[in-house]
Amino acid sequence: MRLGIHTKINEGFEKAVMRLVKLQCNACQMFSRSPRGGKARPLGEGEVRMFRELCDQYDINPVVVHIPYVLNLATPDPEMHEYAVSMVREDMERANLLGASYLVLHMGSHRGQGVEKGLDQVTRALNKALSNYNGETILLLENTSGAGSEVGYTFEHLARVLRDLETAEAGVCFDTCHGFAAGYDLADEQKVAATVIELDRVIGLSNLRLIHANDSVFELGSTRDQHADIGQGFIGEKGFKAILNHPKLREIPLILETPAESDSDWERNLKTVRRLAVPDG
Ligand SMILES: [Zn+2]
Repeated sequence: MRLGIHTKINEGFEKAVMRLVKLQCNACQMFSRSPRGGKARPLGEGEVRMFRELCDQYDINPVVVHIPYVLNLATPDPEMHEYAVSMVREDMERANLLGASYLVLHMGSHRGQGVEKGLDQVTRALNKALSNYNGETILLLENTSGAGSEVGYTFEHLARVLRDLETAEAGVCFDTCHGFAAGYDLADEQKVAATVIELDRVIGLSNLRLIHANDSVFELGSTRDQHADIGQGFIGEKGFKAILNHPKLREIPLILETPAESDSDWERNLKTVRRLAVPDG
């Protein structure tokens, strides 16, 4: 099992990797810059080399970069559109430098212009951002919970943008909390099986590269994005047991984005996942 957490890097890459090692993680996700936006600090050659060496040494793979939440790829506003395009491009380059397999992003909100136009804007922005990109990091579209005027909350939305991307390779990151909030039931084995069949039918399982494993504070279809500890939300232990043991999902790397004030919060959630990932004898 490839399992990791969304880790902070504000105390430097070495500390971040050592925390992952202590937590026995073999995958990780991070922001490559402040999640609130602003100009990114250039990555130093030395720190990049050290980070890549440490990840090799401790078998941390995949490394995932998550793009800041401030950008909106679906925006009708030309200035915000340009900002989003340049941030995606910059983060793809930064992720590539860090040896990250994936850059994960949310599509954003259409702000009243409607879902169709919003999705077209996303495609336009991503095609601009990725033109002539030839790094190794692969872009992943993450499903959203469908709050407000967000796009990207159905498998059809994701499939459509994937289809219209001109880039050679892109895929999908499925966030269990967002999916559940958007109405994809995951609360038991049958529901998980049905959701996986639907994902395969619409997106294709070969495009599913990453899972964000988060329980949901709110009920099925709430459209509210609030992550809960694994097993402590409406997806529950039964749901996660089914997700973690589904034969088609077992090979997909998992990143936890559960609420964490300290390492003991991560430890508790990692322990739950490891316990539930073992099928009944
Ligand atoms: Zn997520």
